Amino acid sequence: CGIVGYIGLNDSKEVLLKGLEKLEYRGYDSAGIAVKNENGVSVFKEKGRIADLRAIVDDSVTGSIGIGHTRWATHGAPSKINAHPHQSSTGRFTLVHNGVIENYSQLKREHLSNVELASETDTEVIVQLIEGFVQQGLSTEEAFQQTLKELKGSYALALLDNEVADTIFVAKNKSPLLIGLGEDFNVIASDAMAMLQVTNQYVELMDKEIVILTKDAAVIKNLSGETMTRAPYTAELDA
Ligand code: GLU
Repeated sequence: CGIVGYIGLNDSKEVLLKGLEKLEYRGYDSAGIAVKNENGVSVFKEKGRIADLRAIVDDSVTGSIGIGHTRWATHGAPSKINAHPHQSSTGRFTLVHNGVIENYSQLKREHLSNVELASETDTEVIVQLIEGFVQQGLSTEEAFQQTLKELKGSYALALLDNEVADTIFVAKNKSPLLIGLGEDFNVIASDAMAMLQVTNQYVELMDKEIVILTKDAAVIKNLSGETMTRAPYTAELDA
């Protein structure tokens, strides 16, 4: 299973699909991408191989922001509906997740009793929680932080918000996730190998950090909201 993401000036689809192919070695049962442009987000997902996903991606949809996922099912059978990305009820938020949320049924009971969930995944609970906190008046970043405080378990997360044009919200805890830095673009990946096609400059994330990722910057914050600085390292092709 794995995560990729791209934010820049060019269409993201091919970078995402190539990245997911590089992560195939990690194992997966389904895959998906979300591509964002000024009209909103388009989600493509499919059970099976990346080749099956490629077959259903609409070439005419382009977007310079995108996230991608290969799923190794832990909650809910491998299926198109349970494949990631998952969206909140209004469609405003789009999320990919690797890992396991141990308290997801409790969170569902306590916070989402009047939300109809579309999938059987622990992941959907995360994206619905974020939307719930935003509806209560929090900003997206605050809602993201608040949601992370509620989660018990492991996660690498990448989140898109239809109402924040130029940002990918990223977080991790006990699941791998790296930021890759480029000129006029930035990427994310579970493994640098997925994105060596576009950059060899990577920044490591620590558990419970979040990243506000734009095409020009990666602002890393801890759970208290303090900004962290960390120098990138050069990933080697044969590393
Ligand atoms: N627990 C999530 C699910 O079952 C994510 C699994 C993964 O890491 O791919 O959908």
